[in-house]
Amino acid sequence: MSVDASRLRDLTLELVQVESPTGDTAAVARLYARRLEELGMEVELLDEQFPRTPIVVGRLRGDRPGPTIVLNGHLDTVPIPHEAPRIESETIVGRGSADMKGALACAAEAARVVAERGSFPGELVIVAIGLHEAPGGRGEDLTWLLGEGGFTADYAVVCELAGDSFVAAHMGQATVEIEVSRPGMPTHELQTPKGTPHPLLAAGKVIAALEARTAELATSEHANPAELSVGAETYFLGELHGGDFYNRFPTTCRLVGTRRWQPGKQLAEVQEEFDALLAPIAGETGCTIELDLRLVRDSYWIDPEEKLAVALRESYREVAGNEQPLIGMKVVADGAIFHQAGIPTVYHGPVGTGAHADVETMGVPELVRATRVYLALLERLWA
Ligand SMILES: [Zn+2]
Repeated sequence: MSVDASRLRDLTLELVQVESPTGDTAAVARLYARRLEELGMEVELLDEQFPRTPIVVGRLRGDRPGPTIVLNGHLDTVPIPHEAPRIESETIVGRGSADMKGALACAAEAARVVAERGSFPGELVIVAIGLHEAPGGRGEDLTWLLGEGGFTADYAVVCELAGDSFVAAHMGQATVEIEVSRPGMPTHELQTPKGTPHPLLAAGKVIAALEARTAELATSEHANPAELSVGAETYFLGELHGGDFYNRFPTTCRLVGTRRWQPGKQLAEVQEEFDALLAPIAGETGCTIELDLRLVRDSYWIDPEEKLAVALRESYREVAGNEQPLIGMKVVADGAIFHQAGIPTVYHGPVGTGAHADVETMGVPELVRATRVYLALLERLWA
């Protein structure tokens, strides 16, 4: 009953060979579902709510009562072109190898070993989704599954984000779109009445206000329930669009970016703070300023002394031989959705290179290591 490195390598490569940008994962979901079925799992392909991104739910039922434990991952990848998938000695190269089809291969391999082992309590469930990567996905499918879908569990492992560290907290994040506008049509610079609100100048004030607020936030880290640093909150702008001709008086300007906040803060509070920053600029410039703040993921945290967290940290020590440092992260992930649903959740996965970069890789030894940690974790939670 040992972890099979070649199975891990082959399944990762097979999954990577099926392109699956966010929102378009039906083919890879069907392939993954088939592979889970072959391991003896009961598999459902939930495609009614999200036909283009069916949710794969694979169950392995134990022979006596016990906890339901979920290994979760996403089958979608960022929609960035990548050279053709291949194996280079002990490494799988291809889009999605690191983020995070390798991890889903680990989950499948863990289930295979458990199925062979036979007797165990409770249930091992694999959940794979297709609407993870923002902005195309915001975890709508997982949110549905844990809400209306009625899915529940006792523990969850989101199989990414960190391997050699223990993520005890991460920030919440929203996308930001600000539209600054004035009434009327674009007009010649010289034929526009004096005092007409100028959207570009108002946008300049918005930029200055967000910069000043971010600088202020950088000097003081607010307390959060995780009592662990995740870094300072930020307002960030990545796009600015406005005006259409050098001597036309513009009517709109659009700013696009992100807002990241401390664990424990709610989106409503973030919205209020943002509105309070923008309202005076609208008043002062006469422009209309509309903010579209859309949640990417909530924040997440776990007490590192909680049962699941301790079990993961001990399992990692057993497999890797050293301690995981406790860390907080700025980046968001799907643990937040389980956390919101009240399911104790940890992050752990194989660590590859180049997630979202031009070249993505995952090493086979790392796949083996992560699978062993999952198996050790299951043993602890069953004990
Ligand atoms: Zn990912």
